Amino acid sequence: MSAPAHFTLNPIGIVHSCYKEKFGIPRQPGLVTESTASIELLPPFNRLDTLDGLEDFSHIWVQFIFHATMKENWKAKVRPPRLGGKEKIGVFATRATHRPNPIGLSVIKLGAIYQKSNRIFIELLGADLLDGTPVLDIKPYIPYADSIPEAKGGFAPLPDRTTLVVFSPLAKTQCDHYQSLHKRDIQTLIKQVIEQDPRPSYLQQKEGKEHGITLWDLNIRWRAHPEYFEVLHIEPSP
Ligand code: SAM
Repeated sequence: MSAPAHFTLNPIGIVHSCYKEKFGIPRQPGLVTESTASIELLPPFNRLDTLDGLEDFSHIWVQFIFHATMKENWKAKVRPPRLGGKEKIGVFATRATHRPNPIGLSVIKLGAIYQKSNRIFIELLGADLLDGTPVLDIKPYIPYADSIPEAKGGFAPLPDRTTLVVFSPLAKTQCDHYQSLHKRDIQTLIKQVIEQDPRPSYLQQKEGKEHGITLWDLNIRWRAHPEYFEVLHIEPSP
């Protein structure tokens, strides 16, 4: 039987995430453990019985659409940030977002599965997903088959080195205030996001430039110094 030339895939869920824009999202899951996100199941899949048994797994595979970049063209060769943005390699040798089919794949720690009114949520711990990401599928992570300790990691054998992050007295006070109001450890979240150095390669040479990252409803203002990053202050996101 010949396969159809085109397929229609319907999202089974949508992501709610602390990452409201692409800048600042870690390059892979598990790097920012303090990030919070959830998948909300969409009709007609918003039924708890579709998830029956999932709670016995610690991690899940999430297949999703890179919806924020899907209208941009893909290229056969891309410049991964890990290679300093200089060297080009084949798109299929990377985890780049600009792909012929804009499908992403993340293995993510599973949190609680819960229902609020008629809405069903799957909590994700340490996700690398933008708010509003359409989810195509969820599968359990099966350690004996999915974990390959002797696997070679190509150009990304280990996570990037992190950079020290310090908070100005003002930023520290603002974080404490936010934390007491919202019961979220925003300071740890900011530290874990910024220590990954989310700057694109072409900006990494520019020390002293002020950057802004949106997390939840906050705009985090920070600056790169030669040896460390400094969080200057936080303000409501415009
Ligand atoms: N773990 C996934 C994978 O390997 O397919 C994603 C890896 S990709 C290198 C990670 C980047 O995808 C993040 O830094 C973020 O900028 C971007 N991203 C996350 N969700 C996205 C979305 N819905 N649309 C476009 N880009 C997204």
